Amino acid sequence: MGFPRDDQGRGAKLLDGLGPPATARGFPFLGDRAVALSHPASPVDQDPGGWAARHGPGPVSGHGSPAPGPRVLRPGHLLRGRRLRGTPLRGPGGTLGSRSRAAGRAGLYIHFPFCEAKCPYCHFYSVPWSAAGCRAWLEALGKEAETAAAEEAAGLRFDTLYVGGGTPSLLEADDVSAILDLASSRFRLEMAEFTLEANPGRGAAEERLKGWREAGVTRLSVGAQSFDDGILRRLGRMYGAAEAVAFCRSARAAGFESLSVDLMIGVPGEMPETVGRTIETLIGLEPDQVSLYFLENVEDLPFAKVLEKRPVDEDAAVESYERASAALEAAGLRRYEISNFARPGQECLHNLKYWRYEPYLGLGPSACSHVELRRWCNVASLDGWAEAVGRGGSAAAREETIELTAKLAAREALVFGLRLVQGVNVVELGERLGIDVRRVFAREIEALVAEGLLVGAGPRLCIPEDKLLISNAILSRLV
Ligand code: SF4
Repeated sequence: MGFPRDDQGRGAKLLDGLGPPATARGFPFLGDRAVALSHPASPVDQDPGGWAARHGPGPVSGHGSPAPGPRVLRPGHLLRGRRLRGTPLRGPGGTLGSRSRAAGRAGLYIHFPFCEAKCPYCHFYSVPWSAAGCRAWLEALGKEAETAAAEEAAGLRFDTLYVGGGTPSLLEADDVSAILDLASSRFRLEMAEFTLEANPGRGAAEERLKGWREAGVTRLSVGAQSFDDGILRRLGRMYGAAEAVAFCRSARAAGFESLSVDLMIGVPGEMPETVGRTIETLIGLEPDQVSLYFLENVEDLPFAKVLEKRPVDEDAAVESYERASAALEAAGLRRYEISNFARPGQECLHNLKYWRYEPYLGLGPSACSHVELRRWCNVASLDGWAEAVGRGGSAAAREETIELTAKLAAREALVFGLRLVQGVNVVELGERLGIDVRRVFAREIEALVAEGLLVGAGPRLCIPEDKLLISNAILSRLV
């Protein structure tokens, strides 16, 4: 299989190497292969009032903590009779910290589908916010949780809760409390981390932030995107740089255990000095985790026209990205996944579950789930989802369910796990799935190792850090 390179040896599709893997952007895995790695699937929004297509848990290049993708599964049934083991991620880079001992439990994702306005580059499912819509969503969420707890999630133990969107920071503290009560009462939840995605804006934030913290949120994921007024305007964000900075400072003061900030690179008109100033401002805010993404060009979205008129210089964007990465590392934020940096012990436990191929349950319109050898997604329509849940519970809200073989599960686990700097323990993965991963994928693995695109360290395989920018080209060799 060919391997696209530019004249510096980098992948021709450099920007594809960052951000979430193909599946997070709606690339369906069909049968034994992913059908595409470079073109997003068609939107499946069925709600004329909705703004965009489905997405999995967490946004990609929108805001909040990015998730690696919805369409994965955990082959837990093959472990029946054995103690479910976590993935300690020991390897060349050490461990991911003591909190990773919680690995092995499932994650609970709740999709809040409302936004104040639609950002022109966003392809996630969201609808305009209204108080009545929000009440209806909460009511349907309760029904979905009730049936999911008895069916899909029966036997699962959870330790992370992640409320993503949409713009979950439109929720009042009382609503956040109600969501936590719902999750705690319906599911076996021993909370290690409770993330709420939040956008700056809506004026003074101190009281709201304090309220969310008191409601039990431990980790705030702020979709700042930039600390430059011009870039924020171009992205159609509804706040300025000063407001974004003030929001992050207030979040720090509110006492969240972890503060995560999303930044976007590759915006038209961006200059190296713009990125430099934004990174400097960010580091001054002392975040615990940073997600650094390239703006994704999605056909048929309003922003595609902007990118057509003002194309981004990919080489300049990559250089900015590399400089930003180096600055984050120098500030003590270690890269632990292609697009994610954290202080030791502050890696997002919930998102690690996606990369480690652990189970998660998604509730809400467009949310996706992965339990054992099965993964599915809910309809990407608020009305359609609420109607289906009311009629037949969580099972009726599913739009598609995919059953996987152990071989395909191993393939997916490799593709997701290799996004982590510490890679995948293929011996442990093989034990979980009941197959010899090195043998089943011998041809692909040996070729990649021979080309220096994968390295083996004991039982682990990982992508060398200097090749992470071309990770999608590397991962495409495994699908
Ligand atoms: S605020 Fe809403 S529209 Fe904008 S990126 Fe986030 S989810 Fe998309």
